[in-house]
Amino acid sequence: MSSLKIAVIPGDGIGREVMPEALRALDALNSRHDLGLKLDHFDWACIEHYQRHGDMLPPDWFETLKGYDAILFGAVGWPAAIPDHVSLWGSLLKFRREFDQYINLRPVKLMPGVACPLAGKKPGDIDFLVVRENTEGEYTNMGGRLFGGTQREMVLQESVFTRHGVDRVLHFAFKQAQKRGRKHVTSATKSNGIAISMPYWDERMKDVAAQYPDITWDQYHIDILTARFVLSPERFDVVVASNLFGDILSDLGPACAGTIGIAPSANLNPERNFPSLFEPVHGSAPDIYGRNIANPVGMIWSAVMMLEFLGEIQPSCTTAANELMFAIEKVLQEGPHTPDLGGQASTTDMGKAVADAL
Ligand code: ATP
Ligand code: MG
Repeated sequence: MSSLKIAVIPGDGIGREVMPEALRALDALNSRHDLGLKLDHFDWACIEHYQRHGDMLPPDWFETLKGYDAILFGAVGWPAAIPDHVSLWGSLLKFRREFDQYINLRPVKLMPGVACPLAGKKPGDIDFLVVRENTEGEYTNMGGRLFGGTQREMVLQESVFTRHGVDRVLHFAFKQAQKRGRKHVTSATKSNGIAISMPYWDERMKDVAAQYPDITWDQYHIDILTARFVLSPERFDVVVASNLFGDILSDLGPACAGTIGIAPSANLNPERNFPSLFEPVHGSAPDIYGRNIANPVGMIWSAVMMLEFLGEIQPSCTTAANELMFAIEKVLQEGPHTPDLGGQASTTDMGKAVADAL
């Protein structure tokens, strides 16, 4: 059996508190199932690394990481020291773009044992997948300021939608729907207000959908779609969206399903030309850092997604992924729970409980 190389980047804030809990679980699985995971740690973050070197990553980061099978990532950002757009563009967005992780996959699922903020919803009512375009769209650093400091001051910010970029995320969404029960794709746009790029997305959606006659589909403007997420989440199966809209929907989704603290995500290069990156949906949460109260499940569930992805090349990882998911479900149902789930347990208590359930 060949070994699988994993780069571990805890990052900042609660990234450093939740990562050890994911590693605790992986450690237990690695020895029991002979997964052959080989973990290397990188201390690349705002605090310390940026402060010492003036950059989020070393100059040779690409060469260093490109041979890895996956990156397990905590969170970056320490706005008191470095503006968020600097830390984000200096690290995570570099990985997403240079490693062509063009899919951001975020499952949204109401789990047994988790209180739902939406009245009357039961587990099973909320179970969908947000597929977000992850390398282009509204998130660019193209544009600039004109007539700075005058009354005519003007700011331009470009969006970029390529046929290659749009089609590949739409195809990915339809292929995900083929693997799921309800076989439905919903597309999010805003083609009444954003008059050039969004009608183009709709046009590509129609074209790509025609290639998947087994899958039903519909499309909504983003404004009414956010309302539908709250009012009737049971209608969704796979939701595909541009970079910005996908970002918004994939925070709203987990909030509807109880807490952002349990939500996982994957940044995928499906062709495996480069490493894919797995990280919780939440950020570095400076407001709760240092108190050992962050929910570690988003991080641990991200490790499940990593194992699932690695399982396509090493089948023992699939077994490990299923076991870890089962352990998460058990702890969500029976406790212990961190404060965001209404409990009083610490990050460490909850992480240990998951490892014990294994
Ligand atoms: P980003 O910009 O990286 O998306 P953010 O600054 O928008 O992140 P987070 O860092 O995710 O936001 O924090 C948002 C809120 O959710 C904070 O009040 C934080 O305490 C809470 N939170 C985030 N993650 C967790 C967690 N794992 N457990 C409990 N609470 C969390
Ligand atoms: Mg933040």
